[in-house]
Order: sequence, then structure tokens, then C-alpha cells
Amino acid sequence: MILLMGIAGSGKGTQGKMLADQHNFHLISMGEVLRMYVTGQQRERMLAGELLDDQEIIAIVDRVLSSLPDSEEVIMDGFPRTIPQAEWLMGQVKAGRFSLRTAFHLVASREAVKQRLLQRGRIDDKEAAIEARFDEYERSTAPLLTWLSEHGIDVLNINAERSVEAVNDEMVKHLNAR
Ligand code: AMP
Repeated sequence: MILLMGIAGSGKGTQGKMLADQHNFHLISMGEVLRMYVTGQQRERMLAGELLDDQEIIAIVDRVLSSLPDSEEVIMDGFPRTIPQAEWLMGQVKAGRFSLRTAFHLVASREAVKQRLLQRGRIDDKEAAIEARFDEYERSTAPLLTWLSEHGIDVLNINAERSVEAVNDEMVKHLNAR
């Protein structure tokens, strides 16, 4: 399993798709999965840029992962996003369900990606929801980078303010070096 982390607009979706196509890996985009599963109040919370409850997310991700064939590589775009989610994942790793190879942290500043998001024009790509997602990332997801390192996972910082190709090249090099 390969984890993709980074603020909204850092390119997790684009990079995840490229890697999955190049290597024939599965790709789970947590945001896409949730846009498929979630309605009502939860959907409203998503659109406001808030994270959904850990227990809910874990139940969904567990179901999605169970539907995949065993022992094939999976790229996770947007999971885990909190320490409780990561604790669940590490529990699964320890139980032998997956092996966790690498976490790529796509590093980009808010200023650098804000225009990208406003141009993308998803319904949650409005100024207030973008800011909320940035704040939520800092509060809930950024501490996870340290947490993963402390739990023996290589977290590779990739400068994501460069071209799509340059970012992809660097990630492929890391994967091939393993
Ligand atoms: P994304 O498409 O990755 O930007 O995700 C869109 C939205 O889905 C986020 O702003 C959250 O509301 C929700 N979401 C995605 N992944 C998670 C997660 N791992 N935990 C909680 N909420 C999530």
C-alpha cells in the first residue's frame, strides 16, 4: 500500500491516477468513494470542507478494501487523514492484511494551490470550503506525518509545486529504488 498525503489541491488525485496507470495498481480515492456513498448531513459537511467521522470512514474503507483481490498494490488517495484512521490502518498492517510501503507527502503552500482549486471548480472548491479544508489539514492530518514516521513508515516529502511530470518522475524513482 502506498499513501498519498497533502493539502487539497496538492495533486493527490492527479498523481494517484498516473501512478496507478503506470504500475497497474488499484487506486482508492477516499473523496471519490465518499461522493459515491454519502448523502444528507454528511454530504453537506463534506461540501463545507469538514472531515467525516473516523468510525464512518473506517467502516467504508474496510468495505472497499475487502472488495479488492488480496495481495495487490493499492494507492490510497486521502486515507488516512487522522491519527485514529492511521491507528486502524496500522492495526490491519500488523495483522498481516496489507504491507505499507511508503507515504508520499505532496508538499505545496496554500497560496500555490488555491488558484488550482478555484479553477477546478468542484462545488467544495469555494473560498470558504477551501480555507476550511486547509485548516482541517493542519489540525488533523499534518500531525499524522510525524505519527507515521514514528511508527516506522517512510514519509517522503515531494515538492508538489512543480509540473505534474516532475512530481510523477520523482515518485516513480522512489518506488523503483525500493
Ligand atoms: P478530497 O476529494 O480528497 O479532497 O476529499 C473531499 C472531502 O471528503 C474532504 O474534504 C472530506 O470532507 C472528505 N474526506 C475525504 N477523505 C476523508 C478521510 N480520510 N476522513 C474524513 N473525511 C474525508
